[in-house]
Amino acid sequence: MLTNIITEEQITQTKQLIDNARQITILTHISPDGDALGSSLGLWWFLKGIGKKAKIVVPNKFPEFLAWMPGSEEIVVALDDNELADKTVAEADTIFFLDFNTLSRINWLKNSAASSTARKVLIDHHPYPDIECDICISYPEISSTSELIFRLICRMGQQRDIDLKIAECIYTGMMTDTGNFSYNSQSPEIYLIINELLKIGINKDEIYNRVFSTYSVDRMRLMGYCLSKKMKIYKEQRAALIYLTLAECEHYNYQIGDTEGFVNMPFSIKDIDISILARQDKEKIKISFRSQGSFPANKMAEEFKGGGHLNAAGGESYFSMKKTIDMIEEAIRNRKKYEQ
Ligand code: 5GP
Ligand code: MN
Repeated sequence: MLTNIITEEQITQTKQLIDNARQITILTHISPDGDALGSSLGLWWFLKGIGKKAKIVVPNKFPEFLAWMPGSEEIVVALDDNELADKTVAEADTIFFLDFNTLSRINWLKNSAASSTARKVLIDHHPYPDIECDICISYPEISSTSELIFRLICRMGQQRDIDLKIAECIYTGMMTDTGNFSYNSQSPEIYLIINELLKIGINKDEIYNRVFSTYSVDRMRLMGYCLSKKMKIYKEQRAALIYLTLAECEHYNYQIGDTEGFVNMPFSIKDIDISILARQDKEKIKISFRSQGSFPANKMAEEFKGGGHLNAAGGESYFSMKKTIDMIEEAIRNRKKYEQ
């Protein structure tokens, strides 16, 4: 039996809101990851299954290794068709915000979402949600939004509507947000849920391979290059930094998602508990922060206009690579400051 995490009131309200909805739009964050897509597609298939009209809109493209997910071809990508994306948000009478806690995470969709008069539901696991909503289902102690979708459907009394497609989407989100259950994954209830998903028929080993065993040769070589040439270790601070310029990415024919997971690699080194990846793209440098144990990666990310979870956070820099690295190194030197 799962503990009742989501409150009874939130369940009743969400059920009622879904019952009354005529057109639902699901929104998730920029550079959608496995949990963003898993929770969105899981909810989408569920809503369709119970006869609701629903669409998913994302700000930009998702990586190839998630394109196998059932239903992904129907997702509206705002960067590809901005007009359709805005229209899909505007025509909804009910909007679900999944896997993000602030409207800036949906970038160019922010205005259409904010100006919509639709009923709004947030379902998320990032701390401190600041989106105005009718229902705010925010539980940072839960390791993925996909898990919250599973819990929501069950608590609405509709566990029997979870078919194989929904189960695959939910499992993918749970798996990717925990690094295949290697962090944020101590809760015994995660495995109760996986037990249910296995009974529905998911092939967990195959899902692992679909997501994690799909490197291109270029991506594999880029990984080797990062480890051999671009990884700095700060022994005293138990930290590692990998940084890539735009030219280096282009040299390895960088595709969206190619550096996904690279930030976790330095944790294979004994005693490292902070790892940072800085990757330059055309307009900015995207920085990923990861930690193990109690070091707050999100506090460090706040120095770079970002945020996130205790152990996984992100931010960005509009300065040069050199200046950005100086700033990151300064933050690393001052690690104690964030630990207070
Ligand atoms: P990633 O490093 O994989 O891009 O992001 C890890 C986590 O950090 C995300 O799940 C999200 O919670 C958070 N995050 C990443 N980038 C940003 C950002 O620019 N701003 C905020 N507030 N959070 C971010
Ligand atoms: Mn998530």
